[in-house]
Amino acid sequence: MIAGLVDGSVPDYQISAWAMAVMCRGMDAQETAALTDCMLDSGGRLERASERPRVDKHSTGGLGDKVSLVLAPLLACCDLDVPMFSGRGLGITGGTLDKLEAYSGYRCDLDKAAIDEQLRSIGCVITGTTPDIAPADRKLYALRDVTGTVPSIPLITASIMSKKLAGSLDALVLDVKCGSGAFMTTVAEAQELAVSLKSTGERMGLATSAILTDMNQPLGRMVGNACEANEAVEVLQGAGPEDVRSLTLRLCAGLLVATGKAESINTATRRLAALLDDGSALRRYQQMIEAQGGEFREQLVLSKPWVVTAEQAAAGAFFTAEEMWVKSVDGKSVGRAVIELGGGRRRQGDRLNYRTGIEMLVRVGDRVSREQPIVRIFGEEKSSVDAAKYLLQAAFEFSAQPVERLALFVG
Ligand code: URA
Repeated sequence: MIAGLVDGSVPDYQISAWAMAVMCRGMDAQETAALTDCMLDSGGRLERASERPRVDKHSTGGLGDKVSLVLAPLLACCDLDVPMFSGRGLGITGGTLDKLEAYSGYRCDLDKAAIDEQLRSIGCVITGTTPDIAPADRKLYALRDVTGTVPSIPLITASIMSKKLAGSLDALVLDVKCGSGAFMTTVAEAQELAVSLKSTGERMGLATSAILTDMNQPLGRMVGNACEANEAVEVLQGAGPEDVRSLTLRLCAGLLVATGKAESINTATRRLAALLDDGSALRRYQQMIEAQGGEFREQLVLSKPWVVTAEQAAAGAFFTAEEMWVKSVDGKSVGRAVIELGGGRRRQGDRLNYRTGIEMLVRVGDRVSREQPIVRIFGEEKSSVDAAKYLLQAAFEFSAQPVERLALFVG
């Protein structure tokens, strides 16, 4: 059937009907692995460019997730090869390729020969999938997208894992997000997806581990393309927000242990932290950007900043106290605000304004005063900034009582 999807001999309406049946009835682990195998076999795989172990990470996507930009060069500094196939943003979650294209000239269309060459010379590549990587996934995803069958765990699993397996990896780590800014909003759903991804990887002979992380507020402070690239550089300079740094270190440390490059998570974490703090990972990042044609800048220019205060965000709420605590941030509204600013896509193919975005100045559990700025908006014209402000004002909930901070690692 998958071969028929690719060569056109099985019509789209039959594939769509089957996808809906899977959406309603699910598939067991063996069926999911069989589908993954067929989708992988619909195309080619990367050759092994060197003797170095080969690793990758996949995140199920969330707001402000710029971890790939830090992780790939950091692992390359540890004598690992990282051939990362990434995607563009659609809807509220951003895409790694869009963040990297904020560097003028950055190319995401490398062919297999260029990927091999860059792995040999630098050890990391972040690019789009080449046309012969899992072509069945491209066709099936396009049908799922228009038939309401994207949110099926077995179909998501086969889609993600077929592309990752095509990278000929030795180890893969998965960051499964859950919360209001993620695909999976509950811990139970995220756990189910994590189990499905891990068991499919293992059935296919790939050492796969998964962690669950919170996405009830953006990761780090910055959301938007150039904004996130700038924040990734801060982390690569040994600074930046603690959550981005600790998540990156945790994901990388697991891969170092899985490939025998470190004996324990603690040793791995110390080594990785040193490579961030001494500038080695940043140098590798700059090499990767430049090798792919990008013009590296430590800090890219952003659009004009506008602030929203706590008082503006709380307007209309029951709130009258002088001080309040941030109770929740609705990720979907933050994502929609970035789209209003031109930093995300409404439709596939929409052009982006890379310089726009949002800086979250507070986190859940922070105590804020009325006049305190809580969000900085980077926008071009007043109309789109007003639309973003409107969404952001509604995104925050406040409490008159202290609120517990959110833990990043959920399981
Ligand atoms: N990401 C993918 O690559 N495929 C899916 O089906 C969903 C998210």
